[in-house]
Amino acid sequence: MSFPARTLPARLLLLEDDPAIARTVAYALEREGLAVAHSVLVHDAREQLAHSSFDLLVLDVGLPDGSGLDLLRELRGTATTAALPVLVLSAHGEEIDRVLGLELGADDYLAKPFSPRELAARVKALLRRAGTQAVAVAAAAPAPLFHVDEAGQRISLRGQPLALTRREYRLLSCLLRGAGRIHSRDALLNAAWGDDSESTDRTVDTHIKTLRAKLRDVDAGREYISTHRGMGYCLDL
Ligand code: CA
Repeated sequence: MSFPARTLPARLLLLEDDPAIARTVAYALEREGLAVAHSVLVHDAREQLAHSSFDLLVLDVGLPDGSGLDLLRELRGTATTAALPVLVLSAHGEEIDRVLGLELGADDYLAKPFSPRELAARVKALLRRAGTQAVAVAAAAPAPLFHVDEAGQRISLRGQPLALTRREYRLLSCLLRGAGRIHSRDALLNAAWGDDSESTDRTVDTHIKTLRAKLRDVDAGREYISTHRGMGYCLDL
């Protein structure tokens, strides 16, 4: 389970039937912090676009069950996808694809063969133009802020594992599950100590103190856990 910092990565749909190109493109874009979904068929891409939302579409022209340009025409005529940024990929030298693509409302065009880096740069420019902030945030912080490995009972912050005791692990995972909410000392006691009657509110305070120190060791610039007088503690992402 991961807890990214505020923004989710931009979501991109890649419609491309050539497996080698699809792999290269997906790799280049994921490295930039984008979430990439992939379709091979126009039919499948249409379904995906109807059922979930994307920030951008990278569209091949020649596909096994039709033309990417026909799909583009459809998307431009549909209210929910009329403004979706679309980058068209097409076979080398197919001037007609480029002209048609742009006439049909593609936002950018790239002829094959292209460099994955060039594609990534253009995709990012399109997302910026569309006002999608996610890409900059995701690129600046490729590792999730917190990652909880429940099976191994380990938590990492900014990609670095924290050396936590069992109680600290339970405290922090409880705070993370309810990030942004204030947890009373009682609730934290229950989560980390169960019904061990030896423990008191002071025990929670002491453990929060060591937990804060461990978080600061990895990220000195931020205080993640805030104290709310008389109420408890809160973890802010
Ligand atoms: Ca193709």
